[in-house]
Amino acid sequence: SKVPPITLNNGVEMPQLGFGVWQVPDDEAETAVATALEAGYRSIDTAAIYGNEEGTGKAIARSGVPREDLFVTTKLWNSDQGYDATLRAFDASVSKLGLDYVDLYLIHWPTPERGLYVDTYKAFEKLHADGRVRAIGVSNFLPEHLERLIAETSVVPAVNQIELHPHLQQHASREYHAEQGIATEAWSPLGQGKGLLEVPAIVAIARKHGRTPAQVVLRWHVQLGNVVIPKSVTPSRIKENIDVFGFSLDAEDLAAISALNEDRRLGPDPAEFNGA
Ligand code: NAD
Repeated sequence: SKVPPITLNNGVEMPQLGFGVWQVPDDEAETAVATALEAGYRSIDTAAIYGNEEGTGKAIARSGVPREDLFVTTKLWNSDQGYDATLRAFDASVSKLGLDYVDLYLIHWPTPERGLYVDTYKAFEKLHADGRVRAIGVSNFLPEHLERLIAETSVVPAVNQIELHPHLQQHASREYHAEQGIATEAWSPLGQGKGLLEVPAIVAIARKHGRTPAQVVLRWHVQLGNVVIPKSVTPSRIKENIDVFGFSLDAEDLAAISALNEDRRLGPDPAEFNGA
């Protein structure tokens, strides 16, 4: 199953579907990422705070997949914000991953109370200029944080990775991203598998297409133009989640899923979260 790329605002291509490894312990990450790479995933989403950059890196090294065919994302944790701290944290991440460069580096949260995301992003611009990161972006930024970043720095973020699923459709952010040329990447695209996959409307659409509820939700994201990074450690689900490019939802299906929006977050509110 081949995943089509989207082209970021700096010309770099990113697979529209990748593999997320949040909450996968380091010693299980190697097996999970290896399973994903065998299933055809070429994009991996990790973060310093996930504590599994080493396991992820081992799977990458052992896979035999050429580096240029992979798209590796990692994220800078909140306590490492600030110009110098960011440069040090980046070195630690690439060293754990066993890589010379990453494809996408994200500021994990804006943590607005710290007041450091602009300085942090200036270090990202240096890493980008030095060729150590192919694209730079952010995560969990609200439009107000992006506005400030765009006004005070020179590289428009390539990506904003935000919580997004049928119960939290993020219309305002998606619209703002589209205006600015920022790709929207959906985290917890399956709503963490909690309840969303049992919603009758989604179950009915899955039956209609002979697909699973997870495939229907991922296909909805793909047709909206979102980048998605579903997570699973179960081999059959890892395979199922990438197999969403051989069918299409029709206008009626898309409308039924759009009607499920409740503006309900599973994770923290980025305006308030300052997690250590
Ligand atoms: P997700 O929406 O991908 O759901 C994962 C869960 O759904 C699994 O643990 C499993 O319980 C279930 N599931 C997966 N595939 C299934 C299938 N085919 N059928 C039935 N159930 C299935 O949730 P997530 O892990 O929170 O998000 C995905 C990725 O997004 C993370 O691994 C991480 O990489 C990223 N993320 C980023 C942030 C951020 O702040 N930037 C926050 C959360 C997650």
